[in-house]
Amino acid sequence: MSKNKRNKHSSRNKAPKGVGVRPSKSLGQNFLIDEGVISEIVEGSSISKDTLVIEIGPGTGALTLPLAEKAGHVTAVELDERVIPGLRVKTFSLGNVDIIHDDILRVDLKELISGNLEKYGLKEVRIVGNLPYYITTPIIMKLLEEDTGAASITVMMQKEVADRIASEPGTKPAGAITYSVHYYADVTKIVDVGRECFYPAPKVDSAVLRLDLRDECPVNVADEDLFFNCIKAGFTHRRKTLLNSLASLGGYEKAAIEKALLRAGIEPERRAESLSMEEFARLADSLKEA
Ligand code: SAM
Repeated sequence: MSKNKRNKHSSRNKAPKGVGVRPSKSLGQNFLIDEGVISEIVEGSSISKDTLVIEIGPGTGALTLPLAEKAGHVTAVELDERVIPGLRVKTFSLGNVDIIHDDILRVDLKELISGNLEKYGLKEVRIVGNLPYYITTPIIMKLLEEDTGAASITVMMQKEVADRIASEPGTKPAGAITYSVHYYADVTKIVDVGRECFYPAPKVDSAVLRLDLRDECPVNVADEDLFFNCIKAGFTHRRKTLLNSLASLGGYEKAAIEKALLRAGIEPERRAESLSMEEFARLADSLKEA
């Protein structure tokens, strides 16, 4: 794990060569311009010639080309049709890149991945992207919840979100997303990235995380939906005690919630942020019995 922060680039207001389009704020377009960060992402993604890479939001191709040099094949999904012709020209000679014009949130990833693994005779899939920040959480949850078979997901996101995800469940910085991500994956921070490493420079710093998908979840729960709903309810009102915050689950009398908490060995006055993953699992199972 590399902890050094990359922020060597200082050309904050100059469009670097090869960008060629006016960056769209609404599409979250902050293009990477720091070669060091690009190398750290490619190295941190653990890809080889056996790997099918799914790249999210290739933009003008800052990551696409170096990924394609290392990977067996890169399938890149981009929503902005303006950048696609240029990207196709840039990657044509490599012969192992295809670009899909679509919204990543609407793509059937399972079908795309199984089809391309077979088509290109590859052994594993890894997902990589400098994410559009306006939809970071829905993208990460889609990648984790859909059974894509990916070995890892290496993604750039806002530093504040990355730090929340990388924190341990049951600690102060954790949020609902921390539990969801740790349920599905081991989390490693690859690098902190200063805002100067992008064109245009965003207002916040960023960080790259690698999520290595687990073969087995760290806890067994009888009802996954209820488990995640407990976490969500607990963190939606994180200053309230669990006894009060869990009322938003609906369908449970306060007395039943109190009984379920006590049966799970959790004091009703505690708050969500103090619960470990195991305690949330016990709570969900106990509520299921209620
Ligand atoms: N990978 C490029 C880089 O590092 O310079 C661009 C990264 S930029 C932060 C995010 C990219 O995601 C943009 O190219 C944007 O057009 C694209 N994008 C935004 N929303 C998207 C969506 N729903 N599906 C696919 N791509 C999307």
